[in-house]
Amino acid sequence: LVIDMTKSIAVGLDVGGTKILAGIVSEDGEVLDSQRYAMDRTDQASSLASIHHALDDFLQRLSNGLEPAGIGIGTVGQIDSRNGVWVQAMNIPITTPVPLAEILRVKHGLPVSLDNDVHAATLAELKFGVGKRYDDFIYINVGTGIAIGMVSGRRLIRGAANYAGEVGHMSIEPDGDVCVCGRRGCLESIASGGGMIAYAHSRLPAFPSSTLAPHAVTMTSSLIFTEAEKGDVFALMIRERALQALGTAIVNVANLLNPEAVILGGGVLRDAWIIKRLKVYAGTHCLPAVSRSLIHFDTTDLDTQQVGLLGAASLVKEVKTWN
Ligand SMILES: [Zn+2]
Repeated sequence: LVIDMTKSIAVGLDVGGTKILAGIVSEDGEVLDSQRYAMDRTDQASSLASIHHALDDFLQRLSNGLEPAGIGIGTVGQIDSRNGVWVQAMNIPITTPVPLAEILRVKHGLPVSLDNDVHAATLAELKFGVGKRYDDFIYINVGTGIAIGMVSGRRLIRGAANYAGEVGHMSIEPDGDVCVCGRRGCLESIASGGGMIAYAHSRLPAFPSSTLAPHAVTMTSSLIFTEAEKGDVFALMIRERALQALGTAIVNVANLLNPEAVILGGGVLRDAWIIKRLKVYAGTHCLPAVSRSLIHFDTTDLDTQQVGLLGAASLVKEVKTWN
């Protein structure tokens, strides 16, 4: 491992429900080294112990004179990033607020910053991805769930409780199906991979001759798109419904923020048909002035395996400038 010592480096920790990825990232967004660790999410104590273990082990490997500018941690749930407190999470069982940044700062003698994975990914786009080119953009990630990060004047919009941008729970169909959040007809319950699969399952009995029927147990969003391309009526209906919901949400957010670009990430937004149709939908449904300045629809060029790590590391500088 050869590292250019003139460049500053940060340690990133991408903490997910199934694994923790630790890495060193240079100021220009190069992942210089990384290591994967197991996450034991039996309870809050075991989850925190997994994070401590990963960081202890990774920092020990760095002992050859490297001086990271700080440690950035991207994780799930609600985070008070100003105070570095992990308030609560569901995917990882955090039920009592933990001042994780302060605990780790005292333990390791380095500045520590903490934020959610969506903010981290959005900052990775802003600093290292196609977002480098834009002052005002929306980052939308559609995979199992839906996440949106909003950047205005090159600043991430955070809101009063660091909870701005929960567009996955924007109401699209007031009388629609119940969402995981308990409300009805949220974008995520319609257009996410998980939402499309749940919808397909619940309506499949009405479409027994659909080519999706034999795949009830192994349904995926890419299978729905494939069968739609082949002309299956039920798959076409699910895809069209997801497109309308995503288009509506993007138009609403674009009319609110007047971005110059929408940056697309996540498995669902790799589908060529969806990307093309979303562009057309936004072009025709946004307010004219908004539509004229929304010129770019870009697919992210960051490695999906690394975006969480890059985002975590980019939190280090973010907190300095933000405070
Ligand atoms: Zn919801």
